[in-house]
Amino acid sequence: MIRNFINGRFEDCTAREVIPVENPATGEVISQVPDSPDDALEQAVQAAQQAQPAWGRRPAIERANLLRGVSAGIRRRKAEIARILSEEQGKVPALAEVEVAFTADYIDYMAEWARRIEGEIVTSDRPNENIFLFRAPIGVVAGILPWNFPFILIARKMAPALVTGNTIVIKPSEETPVNANAFAEIVAQSGLPAGVFNLVYGRGPTVGHALASHPAIGMISMTGSVESGIKVMEAAARNVTKVNLELGGKAPALVLADADLDLAVRAIWNSRVINAGQVCNCAERIYVDRRVAAEFTDKMVRAMQGTRYGDPLREPDLDMGPLINARQLAKVEALVSGAVSEGAELLTGGRRAARERGYFYEPTVLAGVRQHMQIVRREVFGPVAPIISFDDLDEAIAWANDSEYGLTSSIYTRSIDVAMRAANEIRFGETYINRENFEAMQGFHAGWRKSGIGGADGKHGLYEYTQTHVVYLQYRAGNASR
Ligand code: NAD
Repeated sequence: MIRNFINGRFEDCTAREVIPVENPATGEVISQVPDSPDDALEQAVQAAQQAQPAWGRRPAIERANLLRGVSAGIRRRKAEIARILSEEQGKVPALAEVEVAFTADYIDYMAEWARRIEGEIVTSDRPNENIFLFRAPIGVVAGILPWNFPFILIARKMAPALVTGNTIVIKPSEETPVNANAFAEIVAQSGLPAGVFNLVYGRGPTVGHALASHPAIGMISMTGSVESGIKVMEAAARNVTKVNLELGGKAPALVLADADLDLAVRAIWNSRVINAGQVCNCAERIYVDRRVAAEFTDKMVRAMQGTRYGDPLREPDLDMGPLINARQLAKVEALVSGAVSEGAELLTGGRRAARERGYFYEPTVLAGVRQHMQIVRREVFGPVAPIISFDDLDEAIAWANDSEYGLTSSIYTRSIDVAMRAANEIRFGETYINRENFEAMQGFHAGWRKSGIGGADGKHGLYEYTQTHVVYLQYRAGNASR
């Protein structure tokens, strides 16, 4: 059974429940993880609390150098960790390798900020006074993670938290703990001081809830669904703990009549099959100008039918693996059959793949979709492309904005006027123009509306892990040498 990583050591615990970890391509149990008891979480929080003052006092460049030891360790084990991601999460090997490489690069990127964390000096209304705004660490940060990009998300929380002087306790998803264990092994050998980085495994309502409601936690950085995010926020409210929430998405893609349709199809197809459609920022609803809808739909159907899917560890050259578990498969199935019974037209796919094992769903295209259907309202998280035709740009923008979610969006057009107008009027945290939805580490990934609070990446993501300390300094005027 996978063990918690607390205060620099791998620790056994008496699990409330032993949770099996499955390979989603086969349904085989590949590992086990504990739903950890309260005392394990308590030990981890205490270790992080004890380690924080000394860690926070170190020069940022020393903290950065220790982080670089972790990224170097990740690069050394790249192939092995990519294999773990394929096995426990179902990523195809190429994407798993990208995730591991991106994780190491992300840690290095955040380490580079060490010499660039800046405060401010502002003028005072009083004579002989300076006002300094320092950026201070928050203290102990909690990270709560999903399963879809489980390895990079450890870095997305720990790297900005640690370089700014915080310590961290992370709860990985109960679906994907094996890659987190490899991360802990790398940390254990990296020279990071004990207690700075801790991992505790378990379920959301137990360990996740205990972390979110713990009075010693200064900030909870959680990535997951809107439903769980609301629970985290409610639990955090007890102690008025800061929350940073990266939640679900329902990204619209707008395809205008003048768009390069081949480019649009390629990017949107990629968006629907990458990680089997289980990506928060990828196009989940496609609005196409009626004048090109038939041609676009035709090309989209062909692209989806050409998707090569299968078991990432046993079949070569794949575009797509399985969905994460039986629950996710049943959810996708129900949303597609619901759309068909509400009047959508099924053009391809629409059912579980005919395979003996695993949680595979056929790449699916739905036409004749209407704005009120659940397939447009709810996050599907699967390889499903619902297509809606529009008559003018105003209508397309209004429909795109008509959503509880506000994470990402995309626009395909050759007209700079249309692109700029749509980008200005579309109300989402991110807009991709003529390219696939995939954020850069130096950008700022932040959802509007129910897609989240605060954000990650870049300078603004780094500063989420700091709080302001204002110091007013009065000095004596005159010549000190007299
Ligand atoms: P989830 O909400 O089921 O779980 C996410 C994490 O929250 C898990 O660790 C889970 O154990 C924990 N959790 C669940 N209930 C909890 C509670 N009551 N208290 C505390 N913690 C709790 O999400 P998931 O299925 O693991 O991941 C998929 C979701 O994550 C999708 O909605 C996706 O869009 C979203 N996501 C968002 C981003 C982003 O950057 N915005 C990135 C990746 C995934």
